[in-house]
Amino acid sequence: MPAVAPADLIVTGCTALRHTDPDESDPGRGADGIHFVPDTAVVVREGVIAALTDTATAAALPAASRIDARGLVALPGLVNCHTHSPMVALRGYAEDLPEQEWFNDRIWPVESNLTPRLVALGARLACAEMIRGGVTCFADHYFAMEAVAGVVEETGLRADLGEAFFSSQGAEGRARSLDFARSHRGRAGGRITTSLAPHAPYTVDDEDLAATAALAHAHGLPVHLHAAENRAQTDTALARHGRTPVETLRRTGILDTDVLIAHGTGILERDLPALRAAEGRTAVATAPRGYLKFGWDTTPVRALVGAGVHVGLATDGAASNNTLDVWEAMALTALTQKRHEADPRWLTARQALWHATLDSARALGLGDRIGSLAPGRRADLVLVDLSGPRTQPVHDLAATLVHSARADDVRTTIVDGRVLMHDGELTTVDVPSVLGELRTLLPDLLERVPGRRIQEYDT
Ligand SMILES: [Zn+2]
Repeated sequence: MPAVAPADLIVTGCTALRHTDPDESDPGRGADGIHFVPDTAVVVREGVIAALTDTATAAALPAASRIDARGLVALPGLVNCHTHSPMVALRGYAEDLPEQEWFNDRIWPVESNLTPRLVALGARLACAEMIRGGVTCFADHYFAMEAVAGVVEETGLRADLGEAFFSSQGAEGRARSLDFARSHRGRAGGRITTSLAPHAPYTVDDEDLAATAALAHAHGLPVHLHAAENRAQTDTALARHGRTPVETLRRTGILDTDVLIAHGTGILERDLPALRAAEGRTAVATAPRGYLKFGWDTTPVRALVGAGVHVGLATDGAASNNTLDVWEAMALTALTQKRHEADPRWLTARQALWHATLDSARALGLGDRIGSLAPGRRADLVLVDLSGPRTQPVHDLAATLVHSARADDVRTTIVDGRVLMHDGELTTVDVPSVLGELRTLLPDLLERVPGRRIQEYDT
């Protein structure tokens, strides 16, 4: 009998968050299946979870490296389903403003100064923040995305990347988005997937959206865009065009693609049949912190789940959200959903964990690869230390994770079996050097030329 080759990595002694049936496709039922298994060992080979066993059994297995995780909780890595990672460079730059002024007077003027170098530095800082906070995968929607792809490759994270475009760029914007998506998908050993990334129905016209839907079908690509971000956008769309933003997505064929819609706080009851009938995978990313800051209502998660829509958690960019903390998005989703529904029984801690893990993975079309600690899935996991005073004692582990733990309780972050943070130390990003260079470039970024902006916010 041939000797068993050593595992690449074995994590022993943790309590693991498991999904009873990670292939369960009924979106309403997944949260019931979340449970915790003590004394788990995770055996990793070639970037994949080869087996989940117990510590005593794992002790007999040869391994190239081991992590003793006694006292820690292992979760599937969190997924940030919608962000603009380089915007960390504008963290705190435009505060306490309504969205029109935020876009037109602050953000879109300075975004006309972006360079690939600034984008790369911002993305690197963002990746450091996300690795620290237990995020192992993010969906990014921005400009100069070749630079972000390079950063994803070097930092070891997983990402779905889309080159954003407006119709004001002409057909060239759409062509560039397609070219990026085709040339970068599968990069970084398969850690990079790509999407077409029209900005939103109010900045991309119907003809351009219809052409995007046709390209998505022709090239087997998903679509990631903003839509029905807030109620005012929906009301304006109804007044101007007699249809909601979601109805525009249906008319233009976008809903027949695999689509990820950012925000959707302006989704109405009348939109639900179209979402339910959509032919592709339909998902909405919810980023509640920004909604609270702009004074918006939140995403109607209960109605969307009822319509068969995947709901993933997100942070949006740090210029509006201030952090890329998906842990916080998980807690805020639970809290804002209770308020939205006026129902303390809706959006339990288990449901929040389910959205943060498996349903977020499904929102990106990665539900069969990540999102759950299960044999055959990629080894994307985080180890959390709940021994501190704010997380003790533990009566209900799901509640402790969602409502007591914080992102900085994450000790170790692993993607594809590679350790990107070990016991609080980042292994792939040199944060002081990133910050040093970023600071020298910030004056160029923040220079404002009167009348110059990359786009006009007029929904
Ligand atoms: Zn956004």
